[in-house]
Amino acid sequence: MNTAEETQILDAIGKWLERDVRPKARELEKKDEYPEQMVEQMKAFGLFGATIPQEYGGLGLSSATYAKIVAQISEVWMSLTGIFNSHLIMAAAVARYGTRAQKEKFLPRFASGEVRGGLALTEPDCGTDLQAIRTRAVKQGGHYVVNGTKTWISNGIKGSCFALLVKTDPEAKPRHKGMTMFLAEKGPGFRVSKKLEKLGYKGIDSAELIFEDFRIPAENLVGGEEGKGFHHAIGGLELGRINVAARGVGVANAALKDAVAYSQVRKTFGKPICEHQAIQLKLGEMATRCEAARLLVENAARAYDAGERCDMEAGMAKYFASEAALENSIEAVRIHGGYGYSTEFNVERYYRDAPLMCIGEGTNEMQRIIIARQLIARNPA
Ligand SMILES: Cc1cc2nc3c(=O)[nH]c(=O)nc-3n(C[C@H](O)[C@H](O)[C@H](O)COP(=O)(O)OP(=O)(O)OC[C@H]3O[C@@H](n4cnc5c(N)ncnc54)[C@H](O)[C@@H]3O)c2cc1C
Repeated sequence: MNTAEETQILDAIGKWLERDVRPKARELEKKDEYPEQMVEQMKAFGLFGATIPQEYGGLGLSSATYAKIVAQISEVWMSLTGIFNSHLIMAAAVARYGTRAQKEKFLPRFASGEVRGGLALTEPDCGTDLQAIRTRAVKQGGHYVVNGTKTWISNGIKGSCFALLVKTDPEAKPRHKGMTMFLAEKGPGFRVSKKLEKLGYKGIDSAELIFEDFRIPAENLVGGEEGKGFHHAIGGLELGRINVAARGVGVANAALKDAVAYSQVRKTFGKPICEHQAIQLKLGEMATRCEAARLLVENAARAYDAGERCDMEAGMAKYFASEAALENSIEAVRIHGGYGYSTEFNVERYYRDAPLMCIGEGTNEMQRIIIARQLIARNPA
């Protein structure tokens, strides 16, 4: 995609956000209501196929363009991006590792948004230590029988297909060799046990999923070979981290913009608060964080698009941009004074949404460890 095409798509999405999303986001958020109409509009934009190759009906966008779209949408309502982000990571696993038949069967339906879903990795007892999962799949003829529980699954209620990580050999050493990924479409034996209530990130459903003697056809085993599931899950994390980092850029920007606007209209001691040095220090730091976060995301996306190893770059972008969102959101609340604590203004939402980005797609504790390990590996003494 050239620069003019990129500008065109960003302009169209920008107009949609102002016309259809901004006026309704607060109300839907308060009610924790799934934005059905916006999902239909996102389908029409092709967002459910944003990074799916064109030969399978997607837009085939680079991760650099995609990250700009994610940041732009997150600036208005971050939850919307969750509806297609993990869906596209599932699609990326099929595009990268799937068999030809899997690509032909699933990718066009993912791209149109007819089939939507996400990633089912986390379990009640483990998230960071993914190799400790206990969901089990046992082969029986042409099927696998799955038993176990997944939790915190984004789109768990509204989605119908999930990249499901299981153990096919629980005794394998190392543990990851016993892990396998399937494409699990809802059916008998696969049920949602509950919707999870959250601090923020409202509107999008997060759910616990239960598998009881759930039968998956062997042809839905990603890549057709057992024991590669951990590799498939990890392979999607770089793009996932760029996604989350882009969301961080959006929320950090939103907090800055609201703070810049409010600080010019709110007066204390006879002048707008933006003329007080204490507020200027905050705005200066917030703006610098936004710019640095944006550049880190651009850098990671460029490396990803060039096919370079970018776990360190994506980790840095995810870590910095999510912390920038958190810091900017609390500063925006402070700048709004008592109104910052009121649900009449959006800054309280940013403050509730931002912590998720420090936790999802690998916690920020883990990001710093990943960055340090890569730093050592790339710079042997
Ligand atoms: C709103 C929301 C949406 C989500 N969506 C999905 C989804 O769609 N699909 C999915 O599979 N999962 C999803 N998750 C789960 C998310 O990926 C996990 O919560 C995350 O990976 C952390 O795992 P955990 O909650 O088990 O925390 P734990 O792994 O128990 O970690 C607890 C704390 O210990 C720290 N810690 C753990 N191990 C180490 C270590 N070795 N060194 C240093 N510190 C460590 C962590 O950083 C964290 O601070 C979602 C979570 C939320 C809140």
